[in-house]
Amino acid sequence: MGQCAGDEFLSRPCTWVNGPIIVGAGPSGLAVAAGLRRQGVPFVVLERADCIASLWRRCTYDRLKLHLPKRFCQLPYLPFPGEFPEYPSKSQFVDYLDAYAARFAVRPRFGHSVRSARYDAATGLWRVVAAFGGAEVEYIGRWLVVATGENAEKVVPELEGLGEQFGGDVSHVCDYKSGERYRGKRVLVVGCGNSGMEISLDLCDHGASPAMVVRNSVHVLPREVMGKSTFELAVLLLKWLPERLVDKILMAVAWAALGNVAKLGLKRPSVGPLELKNTHGRTPVLDIGALAKIKSGEIKVVPGIKRFFPGKVELVDGQILDVDSVVLATGYRSNVPQWLQGCDDFFRKEDGLPRTPFPNGWKGSCGLYAVGFTNRGLSGAAADSVRIAADIGEAWRAETKLSKRRS
Ligand SMILES: Cc1cc2nc3c(=O)[nH]c(=O)nc-3n(C[C@H](O)[C@H](O)[C@H](O)COP(=O)(O)OP(=O)(O)OC[C@H]3O[C@@H](n4cnc5c(N)ncnc54)[C@H](O)[C@@H]3O)c2cc1C
Repeated sequence: MGQCAGDEFLSRPCTWVNGPIIVGAGPSGLAVAAGLRRQGVPFVVLERADCIASLWRRCTYDRLKLHLPKRFCQLPYLPFPGEFPEYPSKSQFVDYLDAYAARFAVRPRFGHSVRSARYDAATGLWRVVAAFGGAEVEYIGRWLVVATGENAEKVVPELEGLGEQFGGDVSHVCDYKSGERYRGKRVLVVGCGNSGMEISLDLCDHGASPAMVVRNSVHVLPREVMGKSTFELAVLLLKWLPERLVDKILMAVAWAALGNVAKLGLKRPSVGPLELKNTHGRTPVLDIGALAKIKSGEIKVVPGIKRFFPGKVELVDGQILDVDSVVLATGYRSNVPQWLQGCDDFFRKEDGLPRTPFPNGWKGSCGLYAVGFTNRGLSGAAADSVRIAADIGEAWRAETKLSKRRS
């Protein structure tokens, strides 16, 4: 560690990294680090939280299990333990990630919240500034791996009257742990994605009365068909058939398994589930029991929100509901545009995702890489990470050889 050159950095401690700087110690960052460790490439991982996998540890509800079968969720080089169930629980997944970090000796620098990363074209180096313990520290290196995830910041919509008028308890799903504290309460769940559906189910199981706001159309698919994962079925069919045809088959399967869900207020989009996911990033909901509660009336499906009043909400169809609490299951977004500067606008300003779609969005110019921004969950992150580690490994070996020859 030394002092950075240049007036603006005179007081900032500065570290030269003889390898990539990885920002984020979630599954994506860990997978890249593991790939580098296996090749003997040094790296630094900067993480704003005080632990690895902070999203899973801190921002998810207790009953969460992986939505997809385990073989689609494991990271490269280390399979899940054989005794894990088909859908590992959140705590099993966190244990696996801890074991993964230990196995590949990944020791992130915790409490480092990256504030800016700038490519200095004159030197060909990345200058990464992080807030750490009330001060700023700088890391300088040839490669930057962005692994801060698609879920780095919560999305909180502007809803008329929610802040000033409503007066009840309002939280985001990232702070929801269990329905226990809502027992006997009328809870408005805003959002009908996988999280909105599952916490509505959890609220029912804990004796609360949820009403779930469904503003847009949504694809609900059974998690399994005849004991086989629907996701796996889609992956299999995609090997032989075009996406549109697979979508038709999935919708027929959903119809046969779940019936006409439009009658329950869950209108299906006109575009199929895979096409919608690939074009708009909207993930279909895999039903794990919420639909039965909707059918029985225990979860009420309601249309969009017009405004909030003290203890009440008015919906777009004119209904007024009494509400004690609101849980915003309104999703997350990337925070990359807040801190990454320059380098060919590799990430879009609007949503902080790479401009180039999967499978080519993992590598920019100037030694910039992106992992975990494929909208394909952990399997997309795993695929990215293998490519990135191989690419950096090769470049690092070439540069190391060159500098040895020079010296
Ligand atoms: C509730 C939920 C369930 C999911 N279930 C599945 C599933 O079953 N299967 C599946 O394949 N996918 C699932 N996903 C999607 C995805 O796989 C996960 O979100 C996964 O955690 C993504 O890993 P990641 O490392 O890319 O991002 P994250 O896990 O979000 O990790 C990013 C890390 O970067 C850190 N960070 C962010 N900004 C900064 C900064 N400026 N400076 C320093 N550090 C920073 C964060 O603190 C975090 O630790 C789920 C997502 C959610 C939200």
